[in-house]
Amino acid sequence: MKITRIDCHVLLDPGYDAGATSSSQDDIVVEIHTDEGLTGIGESDVNPWIARACIEAPGTHTMGLSLEDMLLGEDPLAVESLWQKLYTGSAMNGRRGAVIHALGALDMALHDLRAKAADKPCYEFLGGAAKPFITPYASLQPEVDNFNAYRESLIDWARRAQSLGFKAAKIEVTPSGPYRHRSLDASYEEMTELIAEVRRTIGEDFVLMVDVQYAFPNAETCLKAIRPWQEFNLFFLETPLPSDDLAGYAEVATKQPIPIAAGEWLATRFEFLDLMDRGKVQVAQPDVGRVGGMSEAKRVCDLATARGLTIVPHLWKSGISIAAAAHLSAATAQCAFIEFLPAELCESALRRELVQDELKMENGILDLPRKAGLGVSLNRDALERFKEAAEKAWRDRDRKRHPVEREPALGRH
Ligand SMILES: [Mg+2]
Repeated sequence: MKITRIDCHVLLDPGYDAGATSSSQDDIVVEIHTDEGLTGIGESDVNPWIARACIEAPGTHTMGLSLEDMLLGEDPLAVESLWQKLYTGSAMNGRRGAVIHALGALDMALHDLRAKAADKPCYEFLGGAAKPFITPYASLQPEVDNFNAYRESLIDWARRAQSLGFKAAKIEVTPSGPYRHRSLDASYEEMTELIAEVRRTIGEDFVLMVDVQYAFPNAETCLKAIRPWQEFNLFFLETPLPSDDLAGYAEVATKQPIPIAAGEWLATRFEFLDLMDRGKVQVAQPDVGRVGGMSEAKRVCDLATARGLTIVPHLWKSGISIAAAAHLSAATAQCAFIEFLPAELCESALRRELVQDELKMENGILDLPRKAGLGVSLNRDALERFKEAAEKAWRDRDRKRHPVEREPALGRH
């Protein structure tokens, strides 16, 4: 079997809000085609126009080859050696960041293809099932335009997540810090009160996580602000500090009892080794696409497992990533939960509509996937709609950058 074509779909939710702290509004979806008619799909959480360029750009020298060209004509079943080929061939431009995030979408599609060719679910190629089921947690982040409305919505959504059957939820407490929702602004004390209210509402037995989106500028500020949070019995606190402040992470992770989680933006096992060994976090959160695909995510899981850490994959995308994280979790005993944007509690149409036949939660768990490959397929109508929205956004932007000069009106003196 040979790879014959790669399609990169740049997608955008037509109702997207550039002021929202949510990357589920856009998407890069790749389809890898073969001469035998089999197709694999993958996606990644990265600006989709940048990712498309990373994949389609021509190579101009031996240290910066084209990802697409490196795959065309290759045997798609040689997944791990293709990962190495892409990583090595793109090294001058890649190794980290957007090129690796884009490579992740391709690797995911290759895993889908290989497993489909063998008529097996993907986790069989990641070491086989290590558990009987997968537990998702609900990620909750309403989009409203003031802090009071946010507080009320978050409390309501936490209640609704419980009634949908979830056993755990994470609240985005993001009214503060560099990536806060544009319309929200609140003090650390108000953040504390918000978490307290959610905990009171859902009771003591429900697993609760908190994500503050890099809100605190340094370890000292963070340690002071989160001291009252110790009584909320949090499963973890996610990304409290700027992502490169590994010394700060180590301080926060070792000087107070709430487990610290991070890793959602990282690319490759090498960045995770720094986060785990220098940053001393207790919970590793690889995003399957961003970290470099299922091959690299599994390597990160193995390194985290060897260190006795908990693994909770990040994901903020469509049913494709949910499936990829589910297969990873199925093969990883230390993976406690996977992140999950409930379609019922998510503002993004793209999240809700892009994938048909996605994995369904029942009684708070996902059964091990049974279908071949990732086990999900694209809703073609939705795909076309989101492609059009992305093309329109690009055209609108172009018009803004290059406004058409008006012809002088004729007949005027
Ligand atoms: Mg996060």
